[in-house]
Amino acid sequence: MDIAIQNLNKVYKNKHQALNNVSLTINSGMFGLLGPNGAGKSTLMKILVTLLEPTNGSIKVNGMELANNRQQVRAMMGYLPQDFRFFAKLKTYEFLDYAASLAGISSRRQRRNEVERLLEDVGLFEVRNRYAGKLSGGMKRRLGIAQAIVGDPKIVIVDEPTTGLDPEERIRFRNILADLSQKDVIIILSTHIVGDISSTCNQMALLNEGQIQFTGSPNDFLKLS
Ligand code: ADP
Ligand code: ADP
Repeated sequence: MDIAIQNLNKVYKNKHQALNNVSLTINSGMFGLLGPNGAGKSTLMKILVTLLEPTNGSIKVNGMELANNRQQVRAMMGYLPQDFRFFAKLKTYEFLDYAASLAGISSRRQRRNEVERLLEDVGLFEVRNRYAGKLSGGMKRRLGIAQAIVGDPKIVIVDEPTTGLDPEERIRFRNILADLSQKDVIIILSTHIVGDISSTCNQMALLNEGQIQFTGSPNDFLKLS
């Protein structure tokens, strides 16, 4: 798997340039996108998952131009937005069952197997009958990652997933992502916390005011800073 981003720009209607000539190559494994608030991380992720159009520039996924293959590429992706909300009145397992049907798993039996596997993987099996709205903050976040990985997407994009989590939940979340990255998938994790990246990612970039200011390994980044 690889994603090649070339000279990507995004200028919003109010003339704010959120991305300024961003070029990046992302390979299989876990990629950390580090940057302060307002750096342009969410903008880049929304463009990758086809929710936003770039002003110009190119994104190729396994050599396929995203702009010409939006549906096909989108079908390869799972996404956990920063402000993820779900249906509080669905039980945890019902919510994942719904996510599985949206992901195109039409057989009930297949969905059941998939949902049970996900519940185990993210440690929510015990609370599968609890209403999603009644889960703890950390559990909600784990439900968020579960819906992002339903149906084994090849690219998983998670936007600031650890914000507001206590240290224990933070580590738990990192471990879920680390387990995922054992497979041939690309995981893109955005964060403003360098510790989220140094412990799990094999590649990273620093984004600041819409510009890439570093790409390389977290080790090399830590040596610089
Ligand atoms: P476009 O995305 O094409 O630039 P708009 O400028 O109309 O479209 O903004 C789209 C949405 O983003 C609107 O709901 C608007 O309220 C919101 N928005 C506008 N400015 C900002 C900002 N600085 N940060 C976050 N959201 C904003
Ligand atoms: P990050 O995810 O790194 O916090 P964002 O991509 O959300 O950064 O935002 C980058 C910049 O673009 C910020 O200055 C933000 O206010 C601005 N911005 C985000 N969305 C919009 C929008 N719809 N319209 C105008 N400006 C926006």
